[in-house]
This record gives sequence, structure tokens and C-alpha cells, in this order.
Amino acid sequence: MLVPAIKILKSARERHYAVPALNINNLEALKAIVAAAVKMRSPIIVQTSEGAIEYAGMDYLIAMAKVAAKAPIPMALHLDHGKNLKLIKEAIQKGYTSVMFDGSSLPLKENVAKTKQVVAWARAKKVSVEAEIGAIAGIEDFVSVEEKDAHLTNPEQAAKFVKETKCDSLAVAIGTAHGAFKFKGETHLDIERLKKIARLVKNPIVLHGASGVMEDVVKLAEYHGAKLGKARGVLDEDIKQAIKYGVSKINIDTDLRLGFTAGIREAVDQMGNVIDPRKLLEPAIILMREIAMRKMILFKSEGKA
Ligand SMILES: [Zn+2]
Repeated sequence: MLVPAIKILKSARERHYAVPALNINNLEALKAIVAAAVKMRSPIIVQTSEGAIEYAGMDYLIAMAKVAAKAPIPMALHLDHGKNLKLIKEAIQKGYTSVMFDGSSLPLKENVAKTKQVVAWARAKKVSVEAEIGAIAGIEDFVSVEEKDAHLTNPEQAAKFVKETKCDSLAVAIGTAHGAFKFKGETHLDIERLKKIARLVKNPIVLHGASGVMEDVVKLAEYHGAKLGKARGVLDEDIKQAIKYGVSKINIDTDLRLGFTAGIREAVDQMGNVIDPRKLLEPAIILMREIAMRKMILFKSEGKA
């Protein structure tokens, strides 16, 4: 059944685990993550970016998610990084059970006003709203402490923002980054900042750009010809700390992309005489399913459905 994301996230925050929010843009990824969730008895958030909607079409994605939601686990369909208000409104009306409004690049006043507008639309349909304050990038992109401080989420500002906008959950910037090349060296998340935020904000906290960039998956992809250079993700230990201190939704896109890539490359390499798309795609589905299951164990969402 599709449920509002806040329903799943509230108990995650209370019981100190995180729900995996997994990005999909095709049937293969959706089938992989739902199979993982059923096997692990984990709640999940299926999320699509605006780019995924552009690629697959909103109606296709909603129809697929509705079928997937017949599985015996709680599931939310979430719009990731919604920036286009028209598209957000459409998602709310057509059956998404959660939307993110990402106004993090806007002036604070405008972010507050637009988030409030989205919350008003969403309330009427019992849809959850995730908002964002602070810029999610690499901690090492900022040279000085002052610069770092200006980009990462300010705890007092975050508390005021949530109170004013009445958003359900809040994406924070504590040093994660999107993509497969997050850090140049060994980098840890700003857990002290997270602790301060979590003391002031009792809503579920969301971590973006949190893929681990698993070494074995990167190696497999590279063995079959991928050129990924120095891909680097968030350490498992940091993820565990983040969950301990209030993070209850963790977004994973890069790790699934890497799994898909590795699976496809291996299949193409090893099945030179095969032209059946099902056979070529199956290894990718299996690898994405395995990666999703590993996340459910790491996030402690296993057995919580
Ligand atoms: Zn994100």
C-alpha cells in the first residue's frame, strides 16, 4: 500500500533506524528494490527525481509504483528534489504520497514562502513534505571554516524553518555530496552539527548524497570496462552515527546506478551471443536488489515492516 512518507519516518525516528529512499527511473530498479524490501521486511520510500519523470513519464512511474505497492510492506512514492512547483502540484494530485520541495538554492525568505505553499497543497491530499535548508555538496569544496559554516545547515535556522513552514521532514547539509565522487580524501560527516540539529528539530531528518560507493561494485564495473577514477562515498560508520543522532531517511541513488552499470557491463561482456534484453538486464536487477538489501541491514530497517 502507498502511505504518506511521514507515517513510515516517524517510527524510524522514534526507534532509531532509517528508511532507505531509493531512486528509480525504470521497471528494473523498482522490481529490484521492492524484492529487497519484501525479503528484508523493510519499509521503503520509492523516489523519482524530476529527471526520472522526464525520462519515464510521471504516469508510467505512478502506475508502476501502484502495482509495486501491492507488496506486503509499507511504501511511499516520493518526488525527490522537486524544484518545479507545477510538477510538484501535479505529483500531489496524481498520487505521489510524498514530495520534496528543494528551495535550498533560493534566498531563505523565498525558500520559506514556497515551502509553505507546497505544504498547503500537500495537506489537502494527506501528502508528506520534505524541505531542505543548507547546501548539500562536498565538505572539501569549501576552503575555510567560515565558508563551510555558511553552506552547512545552521541548527537554529533549521528549527525556525521547520516551525514556520510546518514541513514534515527536513533534509540537512552536514557534509554529504551527490554523485560518486564525494570526497577527495578521508572525510567524515559533521556529526556534532547533526546532534545540535536533532536536539532542536524533532521531525525526521533526511540525509542526501549518502551512497557508500561500495568498493566491490566499483571494482566489478571497472573490471568490465567502466572508468570510474577515484569514486568515493560515505563511510558505513558515519551512516551508523547519523542514524543514531536522528537521521531517519537516507537517499541512495549513486549506489544503485553503480550496481546497474556493473550488472549490465558484466552481462554484455559474458553473453556475447545473447540478444534477449531480459537476460542482459537480469544481472543488473540482481545486483541492485543485493545493494538495496545491504542498505536495509546498514540502516537497521530490516524487520521493521
Ligand atoms: Zn539529493
